[in-house]
Amino acid sequence: MAYVGSGFHPLSHPSRRMTREMLQREQDDAIIRTTGYHRRDYGMSVVHVWPSDHSKVRSSILTSSIVSRAGLGDLDRLPVELLLQALRQMDMQALFDLRRVNLRARQIVDSLKEYKAAVSYGLTAYCALLRMKLAAHVTLLDFYRVLCSQDCTFCGKFGGFVFLPTWIRCCFECIEEDPETRMVTVAEVRRLFRLTRAEVGRQRSFQALPGIYTTGLYSMEKSYQRGRVKLVPYFPAMKEFGDRLDTSAARSQHQPFWDPIHNFMASCELPYYDPRARTVEYGISCAGCERSIAGQAPGQAPSRATTAPWDRVFSRDNFLKHFKICAHAQKLWASSPEGVLEAIIKRDVSQY
Ligand SMILES: [Zn+2]
Ligand SMILES: [Zn+2]
Repeated sequence: MAYVGSGFHPLSHPSRRMTREMLQREQDDAIIRTTGYHRRDYGMSVVHVWPSDHSKVRSSILTSSIVSRAGLGDLDRLPVELLLQALRQMDMQALFDLRRVNLRARQIVDSLKEYKAAVSYGLTAYCALLRMKLAAHVTLLDFYRVLCSQDCTFCGKFGGFVFLPTWIRCCFECIEEDPETRMVTVAEVRRLFRLTRAEVGRQRSFQALPGIYTTGLYSMEKSYQRGRVKLVPYFPAMKEFGDRLDTSAARSQHQPFWDPIHNFMASCELPYYDPRARTVEYGISCAGCERSIAGQAPGQAPSRATTAPWDRVFSRDNFLKHFKICAHAQKLWASSPEGVLEAIIKRDVSQY
């Protein structure tokens, strides 16, 4: 090739490399559109805030362009950088309250990139924290850090959800399966650990929101809950008061009564926000694997994809890796108009 030794390589030229990357990205997008999809039913099985409720909050988070004369009192004496740093350390309830003080407070809070990202991409989780009175436990920096993390804290797979009482990112499976997301009623935790009212008050308990929740991963049946039940995470209580458990008593006396639906009443969908690319990801499932389940012969041993579809929710990058080894997804792509076009282009290029 003439390029060798000339110091010029076609693929290393910045503009060509950019064009190649753009074309690759377009093709990846097309593959995801054709062979991937987002499981909306998972998000509808946990704490869910309807768009109509969002609009009520949205109206209160809009910043007017009118310049406010009222200041922030003592806070205004701080240098701006220090003030912004202090706001980042404030909890989400305090920021919500501060924004209601006056227009200047709104403008200064809204100027924070972390706050903008939180209300743009994590509004459902923010509304849930406020309504469940858990927002005082989560600082803006905590909120942003979890929003910008991709993997489930417990199993390392893509985590499109957040466990609200302790603000930990998790996947749909770990909402039910991980011991740290286990929820019990306040009455149950009081009985088990013989807690005083003050000790109960220190736990992150909340009144569950009314709504439709799944009763469990394996049943995926839905149940309407009126939301009067008061719940508390079991794991922190166990860590603090575990020595009070009377393990010599009958098993029913020291084993908590646990209903998986309570875990789903404490979790909510939270997309992953990539601050560098400025993109959000909700998790991608494989339509190819889904079709293979539908086409499974009667009597054939069920695959993991059949029994645990939540196990295969991917990030964008991992979905594209999965696509390379998933014959079902490749078949789906090859039969799509864009896949057919790709095959024609490849054939034509190989002829020259
Ligand atoms: Zn997980
Ligand atoms: Zn697949």
